[in-house]
Amino acid sequence: MIAIYARQSVERENSISCETQIEYGRSAIKPDERSQKVQTFVDNGFSGGNTNRDGFQKMMKMVRQGKVSKVIVYKLDRISRSLADFVNILQEFKEHNVEFVSSQESFDTSSPYGEMIVKILMVFAEFERTSIINRVTQAYAHRSEMGFYMGGRQPYGFELVPAVIHGIDTKKLEPIPSEIEQIRYIYEVYAQESVSLRRLLDILVAENKEPLNGSQWTTAKLSTLLKNPIYVKADSDVYDYFECHGVRMVTEPAQFTGTHGAQLYGRTKHKPDNPDWSDMKLVLMSHRGVINSDIWLKCQRKLEKNRQITNSYSNPTSWLAGKVVCEKCGHTMTTVKGKVNRNGEMRRYFNCTGKSHKKTCTGTKTTIYAKDLEEMLYDCIFEKLSDLKEVTRSSNSGDTAEINELKLKIKEIEKSEAQLMDSMLSGGFNSDMIAIANQKATHFKNDKLALYERIDALKAKDNETDIVINLSRSWKHADYGCKKDVAAILIDKIVISEDGSTKIIWNI
Ligand SMILES: [Zn+2]
Repeated sequence: MIAIYARQSVERENSISCETQIEYGRSAIKPDERSQKVQTFVDNGFSGGNTNRDGFQKMMKMVRQGKVSKVIVYKLDRISRSLADFVNILQEFKEHNVEFVSSQESFDTSSPYGEMIVKILMVFAEFERTSIINRVTQAYAHRSEMGFYMGGRQPYGFELVPAVIHGIDTKKLEPIPSEIEQIRYIYEVYAQESVSLRRLLDILVAENKEPLNGSQWTTAKLSTLLKNPIYVKADSDVYDYFECHGVRMVTEPAQFTGTHGAQLYGRTKHKPDNPDWSDMKLVLMSHRGVINSDIWLKCQRKLEKNRQITNSYSNPTSWLAGKVVCEKCGHTMTTVKGKVNRNGEMRRYFNCTGKSHKKTCTGTKTTIYAKDLEEMLYDCIFEKLSDLKEVTRSSNSGDTAEINELKLKIKEIEKSEAQLMDSMLSGGFNSDMIAIANQKATHFKNDKLALYERIDALKAKDNETDIVINLSRSWKHADYGCKKDVAAILIDKIVISEDGSTKIIWNI
């Protein structure tokens, strides 16, 4: 008996009717088969997502009873959209000596070519099972070289929008005009001779410039922002700047035309006083830069000079700077120099900027000396770090295990990928097979990218917890920069009420 199977999909409107599919099926019957009985099996309005369909199950029952010699379909996807299901069904057909023919896709399991296709489909099914892959070999490895956004924290002033670069679906940075305007302002102000990071921060607060991402301005954040080449209109001067610092240049110098932004990536061995960029790479991005290179480079020179000053002189303000907030008005409290006392000491104290700059707040009634607040926080952080140690460690090892697992999955993908390439090279693919291959490739590629993105995210998290662990050990001997870093990670803000009492809001 010859079985003609038809399914009208629910996936697409105006899909070809079951009647028409059966017509095509009949025309695929060979002259010498015309004496055989023909039975049709129909599923109307079913999805191809699984094989739980009445008509299909009825047909399979007859296949298992050995009553069917041949199954004809209009297209392969009528059987199943799941490759794993499809391959299983093909195997069942084979066991019961059932020939399988697609009228539209020159697919016939009785021909040697059809047999080869079955083998290739099984390779694909293997990929699907291990949740994988992509015909574009090492797409991810080349991703960076082609100006893809490498993940990590999304830089201020941009949003990620889907884009197709070099035929690969990825994400592209798209400027957010209002935020870019803010960034331009920050660069312009800092590029002025007299403006330090600290002064820049005060200016932004005083002018009530809304912090980006809803968080608070800190000098650390401003410094990170100012250092980011994502904003620069990268030209040959910018190329020279990074090359001089030992950064590996991915993009050809000729392409540094002052149009596009750039991305610095790779492992940082970034000590504040001695940046080691030898493992870093710089790649030109597809988005347009927003800061002129002369201004951007001027800011870099200032930042470098600034680093040297902070390192050679002691404590310029307070390591709690940027974290202290006035409860009454919500403004940041900054340190100001106090009068010199009888012992010849000059004591800094925290003052509400709502009071000093805007005259809209009366501030605290008691004087909040920077040294007192620092001492108090020093003890609180010490306690906090001792508590955190165990928790951080255990969650950390969990991440490592997960990263390893993800890496193994990617290894599997790469193995299957090599297998696939072999199959593709050894046998011809017709256009239908290539269509299926492409469809699968998109699917698999996304899986692999997702794995890499997950690893990146875990690693980013890992780096942060690593800092905490190391600093907790050396907290007792922590220097100014170290304290500042720990405070940046641990503390969201310190709220000072009018009567001088303190409330710490922890990040962790
Ligand atoms: Zn205030």
